[in-house]
Amino acid sequence: MQNVLIITGGSRGIGAATAKLAAARGYAVCVNYHRSRPAADAVVAEITAAGGRAIAVAADVASEVDVVSLFQKVDDLLGPVTALVNNAGILETQMRVEEMNASRLNRILATNVTGSFLCAREAIRRMSTRHGGRGGAIVNVSSAASRLGAAGEYVDYAASKGAVDTLTIGLSREVAGERIRVNAVRPAFIDTEIHASGGEPGRVDRIKDSIPMKRGGQPEEVASAILWLLSDEASYTTGTFIELAGGR
Ligand code: NAP
Repeated sequence: MQNVLIITGGSRGIGAATAKLAAARGYAVCVNYHRSRPAADAVVAEITAAGGRAIAVAADVASEVDVVSLFQKVDDLLGPVTALVNNAGILETQMRVEEMNASRLNRILATNVTGSFLCAREAIRRMSTRHGGRGGAIVNVSSAASRLGAAGEYVDYAASKGAVDTLTIGLSREVAGERIRVNAVRPAFIDTEIHASGGEPGRVDRIKDSIPMKRGGQPEEVASAILWLLSDEASYTTGTFIELAGGR
């Protein structure tokens, strides 16, 4: 039976690279997106042109109704999910903590934390042997910001990734006996459009000399680590983190 992967935020950046690599490795892929329909369609078109199987499904991961419907669509169109990548994530304009208001904080937490929990819940209901499933693997896309703190830029975002780290540890232990592995990657300084949403599209260039490897990373380098964690090669690995931060 074909492995079925749902990748949240698969329309751009790390998510798009992961969707393409997963399809090349034989997964049927659901490319979830929120606003960028043309970008999601382009990822699906590239996968199908290469002979793979993929669909694009719109859903805001912060919305419980949307997440339930996303997983139901995948049940209907691709079959039961065997792999989930909780990749959708946002940050907002760089500022200090004393400038942040509650609506900003709640937006960040709703997408990065609540969204990851809701998608994990729907995946476990399908994967867990407790619910008659065959098992599976979940990879959460955290950030090196969870240990570095993102001072002066976005401590709220860093704290949301701290919650993703804790979700990874706790959930991995909760479902370890139900044939589900839960791991995370902690990227940083990856060349994607997320830095523009912080107000500094050239952020990686500014920082690169302070990175031990003296360069930013590419989305494909993160995708490789995600695919390894999802694969049977990582069969005894759960509750762990792969750092993709050039040595920082
Ligand atoms: P990106 O290029 O800005 O892409 C973000 C993706 O998330 C887009 O596909 C976007 O979809 C989707 N998304 C945003 N809000 C969503 C929502 N509410 N529901 C569903 N999808 C949503 O960002 P990226 O750099 O690839 O980041 C991907 C993940 O890596 C994030 O979790 C981020 O925190 C993490 N990360 C990135 C870096 C880095 O340096 N780039 C470092 C550490 C961690 P639409 O475009 O369709 O709205």
